[in-house]
Amino acid sequence: MKTRKRFGQHFLHDPGVLKRIVEAVAPETGDVVVEIGPGEGALTGPLLERIEHLTAIEIDRDLAANLARDFSSRKLSIVTADVLDFDFSALSPGLRIVGNLPYNISTPILFHLARYADRVRDMHFMLQKEVVERMVARHSTPDYGRLSVMLQTRFRMQKLFNVAPGAFRPPPKVDSAIVRLVPLQEKMQCDEAVLEKIVRDAFSARRKTLRNALPLEARDYAELGIDPKLRPENLSPPDYVRIARRTETQGGI
Ligand code: SAM
Repeated sequence: MKTRKRFGQHFLHDPGVLKRIVEAVAPETGDVVVEIGPGEGALTGPLLERIEHLTAIEIDRDLAANLARDFSSRKLSIVTADVLDFDFSALSPGLRIVGNLPYNISTPILFHLARYADRVRDMHFMLQKEVVERMVARHSTPDYGRLSVMLQTRFRMQKLFNVAPGAFRPPPKVDSAIVRLVPLQEKMQCDEAVLEKIVRDAFSARRKTLRNALPLEARDYAELGIDPKLRPENLSPPDYVRIARRTETQGGI
């Protein structure tokens, strides 16, 4: 079947890579597993050998119809939809989410999923290697940015291994990597909308000092113990949470 570029379709065919992914996920009977973008079912099949049931979200109607033909409806529930519109709170908690994600919308998918962190047990994704490096980057390094902060305030993340373009058909132009995300046991408490706005404002002015990038007063920085001459990339995720809490107590933004 012709691959659809607009849906970021690169199908995995390397058995060694598929095996490593399934081993990393280590699915067990009874797990509540959701696959994003099952495509032709390269991962779906090996996952279903280990679990009783899987929910798969696929935007491409033709691929969804083929999957419905290839797998029993008792084992595979297919949701033909855009994952960005999918309400994960409709599923049982303890979700294990997996997927070789469409790279053209991987960042919006990650931001969407971050909102459901408290329903999730873990997530394993294939992504563009550079995106994984941005997700796990530590503060004060060049890859650190909005994606790092918004995910690190909710998840512990680990890059597992790289995957070369030849593992896919057609091969993507970029290198890929598998990443694991596990929700933090102790959630960093603050208003999510306030945090999102502060982090967006900060990194849209990455070269500015905090004093010029954020609407805080000198007194706020003094009480938070944060130097206003630092740049947004120098603050850790907990620093951003403290700024969000301070902003909330002052009546928001
Ligand atoms: N899992 C398959 C594999 O490894 O061979 C396919 C991976 S391919 C990189 C991405 C898959 O996500 C495609 O099947 C594509 O149709 C699907 N997809 C793209 N955009 C989507 C969206 N917004 N919602 C759900 N699925 C989407």
